[in-house]
Amino acid sequence: MSSHPEHGETGGPAEELRAAVNRLRRQVCDLHALLPANGLVAWTSGNVSARVPGAELMVIKPSGVDYEDLTPESMVLCDLHGNVVEGEYQPSSDTGSHAYVYRHRPDVGGVVHTHSTYATAWSARAEAIPCVITAMADEFGGEIPVGPFALIGDEAIGKGVVETLAGHRSPAVLMRNHGVFTVGKDARAAVKAAVMTEDVARTVHLARAYGEPIPIPAADVDALYDRYTNVYGQRSAADGANER
Ligand SMILES: [Zn+2]
Repeated sequence: MSSHPEHGETGGPAEELRAAVNRLRRQVCDLHALLPANGLVAWTSGNVSARVPGAELMVIKPSGVDYEDLTPESMVLCDLHGNVVEGEYQPSSDTGSHAYVYRHRPDVGGVVHTHSTYATAWSARAEAIPCVITAMADEFGGEIPVGPFALIGDEAIGKGVVETLAGHRSPAVLMRNHGVFTVGKDARAAVKAAVMTEDVARTVHLARAYGEPIPIPAADVDALYDRYTNVYGQRSAADGANER
């Protein structure tokens, strides 16, 4: 971890940090448009955040602002305890939980939260989504697990997310009676996981409505996940070229 360049006065590191924050403000703003575009959110629910690489900071959605009114400038810069560092608005009410995830998962660069319909229906039953389609084995490496019930407003949700994901390869968790939290190496990867979560939640729901889905044997799940992660992953460094 570098020293805290935001306190630098010589220009170089501070300017680099400023440029990185500005880049992430735009990226996080743009990624928010993908939530309503993919039918994952209603009204102002849902949020995306991104870690500022090399700094104890994150960029997150402001609370209660309509999606169409979001701008790069309206994104809120917070420290990793959820305190506002820079921004005109209050940050999302889930900020404490996003911050908790970043503090406890150094590999995570992006976090997304939605109440997307099908996935949230599974969470209302506290039922994990079983791994019954190959796309799920690829992306999640097994079931999408259920996390504990936790009240909104502090770090309790984040703690439940971290503790639940520790036992799974899945980048997504269904928080009981609430909705979906996803993580990724960056914010775009976390958004992709949120889109895929709703997609498989819908598919497996439909499969279940007409019969009993057939599980994929664990060894085949491992093989699919390994191939997708390692073979496809190598040619996807730029921007999600592993989407098929
Ligand atoms: Zn929520």
